[in-house]
Amino acid sequence: MRASLSLDGAAPDHTAIHRVGPNAIIQTRAALDALCGIGARCLIFNAAGLQAWQADDPADMVPADIINQLNSEIGRGLPMAQAQAVMREAGRRTGDYILANRIPAAAQAVLTRLPRRIALRLLLKAVTRNAWTFAGSARVTSGMKGNAGWIAIEGNPICLGRSGFDHCHWHEAVFMRLFEALVSPHVMVRETACMGSGAPACRFEISLPR
Ligand SMILES: [Zn+2]
Repeated sequence: MRASLSLDGAAPDHTAIHRVGPNAIIQTRAALDALCGIGARCLIFNAAGLQAWQADDPADMVPADIINQLNSEIGRGLPMAQAQAVMREAGRRTGDYILANRIPAAAQAVLTRLPRRIALRLLLKAVTRNAWTFAGSARVTSGMKGNAGWIAIEGNPICLGRSGFDHCHWHEAVFMRLFEALVSPHVMVRETACMGSGAPACRFEISLPR
């Protein structure tokens, strides 16, 4: 069971401090195209110094600084409500990518048939073990309290709250997509503490419906 529930992507490179998965560029580019148009995306990518990735995908993990540069530029270049919508859409698309490519279909089938509380506990563990995709080499912990789970990212290297946003919309949307698909379509995910507001870690709560 344990092996079948692990996300089967490439192994993390623990020497690559503060690098995160390339989806933080690829899916954000797709979200900008979908919500703002290619013209606006080109302007934002150029302003962030990302000309090289206008047409090509990053082949490997990407330094967190570059992601933060892009996210800051989105916050500066768009009305804030639209910038937040772009980051949520990018997170949702990253969740879709993880569902399609990183969680084996057999594991997904098992999770969706389990009682929701057990599925929540198992998915929390799987997500925590594979945190490099959304948290680089930051320390990520998780647990359960009653009917809710939590995930904490200490030293979140791509905290949106520190890139001009009010909190981590992207992470919320990634988790929302995964937990609504595999645990319950009515799950709620919200960030209850953000490093951007001075908290020691970004902490997310995943609540099951009553
Ligand atoms: Zn945060």
